[in-house]
Amino acid sequence: MTPTHIEHIGIAVKDLQESIKYYENVLGLKCYAVEEVKDQKVKTAFFMIGQTKLELLESTSEDGPIAKFIEKKGEGVHHLAFAVNGIENALKQMEENGIQLIDKTPRKGAEGLDIAFLHPKSTKGVLTELCEKKG
Ligand code: ZN
Repeated sequence: MTPTHIEHIGIAVKDLQESIKYYENVLGLKCYAVEEVKDQKVKTAFFMIGQTKLELLESTSEDGPIAKFIEKKGEGVHHLAFAVNGIENALKQMEENGIQLIDKTPRKGAEGLDIAFLHPKSTKGVLTELCEKKG
């Protein structure tokens, strides 16, 4: 498995609307989509920069994964997402290499991508997402 590019960088924020203002007014990027992902308990906002996206993540629930992350570590970079071809195979290879999978099989993420997370304990401290755009 070789990732083709960084699909997106996930950034945990407390307040999505406030954060969008920073990325738009200060950095000069344009938010092109806001989407709620219910099973992750997050609201996301997307920005395109080159072929990479920034994905801002605001928790919609006090017990959601993003709320817990911010409680422990504060706002900031939450995960890196690598684009891969053949995500099922990539997961199998990861597992064979002793990498701990959070998602054994891909599931649907924002923007209709197939996604799966790898545990930061086995990826040198970086919560890692593999994703693939299908169809
Ligand atoms: Zn992501």
